Amino acid sequence: MNKIHYSKPSITSLEVEYATRAAQIGWGERCYDCITDFEEKFKQHLGVKYAHATSSCTGALHMGYAAIGIKPGDEVILGDINWLACAAAITYLGAKPVFVDVLPDTWCLDPIQVEAAITPQTKAIVAVHLYGNLCEMNKLQVIAAGHNLVLVEDAAEAIGAVYHGKRAGSIGNFGVFSFHGTKTLTTGEGGMFVTNNGELYEKVVTLNNHGRPPQTSTQFWAEMIGYKYRMANVQAAIGCAQMERIEELIAKKREVFLEYQRLFADMPDITMNPEPAGTVNGHWMPAILFGKSYNFDREKLLTKFKENNIDGRCFFWPLSWLPMFDRVETNPVAYDITERAVNLPSYHDITEEEQKRVCDVIKSFICHKKH
Ligand SMILES: *Cc1c(COP(=O)(O)O)cnc(C)c1O
Repeated sequence: MNKIHYSKPSITSLEVEYATRAAQIGWGERCYDCITDFEEKFKQHLGVKYAHATSSCTGALHMGYAAIGIKPGDEVILGDINWLACAAAITYLGAKPVFVDVLPDTWCLDPIQVEAAITPQTKAIVAVHLYGNLCEMNKLQVIAAGHNLVLVEDAAEAIGAVYHGKRAGSIGNFGVFSFHGTKTLTTGEGGMFVTNNGELYEKVVTLNNHGRPPQTSTQFWAEMIGYKYRMANVQAAIGCAQMERIEELIAKKREVFLEYQRLFADMPDITMNPEPAGTVNGHWMPAILFGKSYNFDREKLLTKFKENNIDGRCFFWPLSWLPMFDRVETNPVAYDITERAVNLPSYHDITEEEQKRVCDVIKSFICHKKH
């Protein structure tokens, strides 16, 4: 039985060709060519004015938070079920991540809980589109505007997702993306900062050049302490090839999800990634949440996966469970669902037979209903 990976990039001869060419000629005066091209392609795809490639999404977040002036003592609100990067970058600036409960259907932050968590110290809300599911951006925008807060969009998992005609990542004051090897579009490691705000863009570009403004003519002169989260030209070359295949990469994610949905259609009391009216789910990673009518034991299922040569993957933990943070006992939804859910393998080249294998393992394991 071949191994079924949970994720694996799709690298064709186009990526190899572009990367090879960049390795051959993308130096000296041409050392930014692919980066500029990649940013241009990304901007067009997303429908935003500005895009700046970075070495990681974590770096893009760090600089974005810095550019909006996050400082020690500030609070930033985000959903409790989340990837650590969003919270870690807040702490890099001495600010405090405030974890609020998530919605039971989208697993993204609950706008009512967001509003309740606002204090005089609150500076920003981070809308993370978990697994490609969309946050309720309309409600979050109203809340952010009403309290004079910055609305950040972490769309690392949401390439391909569309919210009422706008692509995920293009709606907030700024958005960030990840091109880590597990993501829908990859450059190995890498990220992107996007915004429609020219001033914010300039600030991030300056920060990412050790505080040297792009138009400065004095060599090695810096205006402030900055960062160094630049993307390499060779990476961007791979990104350019992936951008040319973006529709195909997104479409396959959707196909994989729809196939799982079909395979699990006869299972009662489960929830999979939702797609509310007016939205298109990015379907980075299919997930199944088992209802309480099951005696679901996630660890046992993951063991079962391993026996069958399938990569299992935990649902994200509530970040407030991690030892660096304080528990938030007012987040019952997040605390309740985390151990009743798993992600399913969804790499680009997965076959229907492999998806069936995953499904069969789950169905053979989960036959006992609670009495
Ligand atoms: C992957 C991911 C990140 C971090 O991306 P890196 O490129 O690994 O820094 C941030 N936020 C979310 C929601 C992610 O899934």
